Amino acid sequence: MKGVSFLMKELIGNCSLCGKAIYCLDGFFNGVYQEDGKIVCFDCFEEIEGGQVTGESTYKE
Ligand SMILES: [Zn+2]
Repeated sequence: MKGVSFLMKELIGNCSLCGKAIYCLDGFFNGVYQEDGKIVCFDCFEEIEGGQVTGESTYKE
């Protein structure tokens, strides 16, 4: 680990579902852009992925 105390933390926006702040941490985006341009955090994204199929990730037969 290097440069931990100087981590780049840039506020990108808020989760469109739960309102949690989403940051870009040292180049790592702390959320997911939806196709409609909204941003959601990883927690909400997992719920979305579990509830409905988006894109070509998973299929339920
Ligand atoms: Zn969220």
